[in-house]
Amino acid sequence: MGKPRYRCPDCERENLAVSQFYFDKTKPAGRSTYCRDCTRRRQRERRQRLSQRTDYELATARPGSQRCNVCHVVKNTDQFYNSRSTPNALRYACRDCSSQAVAEWRDRNRTNKETNQ
Ligand SMILES: [Zn+2]
Ligand SMILES: [Zn+2]
Repeated sequence: MGKPRYRCPDCERENLAVSQFYFDKTKPAGRSTYCRDCTRRRQRERRQRLSQRTDYELATARPGSQRCNVCHVVKNTDQFYNSRSTPNALRYACRDCSSQAVAEWRDRNRTNKETNQ
């Protein structure tokens, strides 16, 4: 009676010994889905993909922080006011930029009023 043989669905090699697979307790079979070579390659590719992510992707993927649309600085979400009109319920501009925008808007309004009079 021969030892059980496995097939890797990635490189499609059949007849692989169980030793060709990493142990993986999270899988029902107790071993990884892909053979060692493929698992290593996939991990390498994943690392590469992660290192090639753009600043924007990093900023949005990071939980608890968001990138300000005005100063483009990634800040903790508690640095943003809440908003009902955005998908993640946070304003696009950070508190600093928001208050600055309001101050500028007031300034502009005041000047407009003054010039209108
Ligand atoms: Zn494989
Ligand atoms: Zn800002």
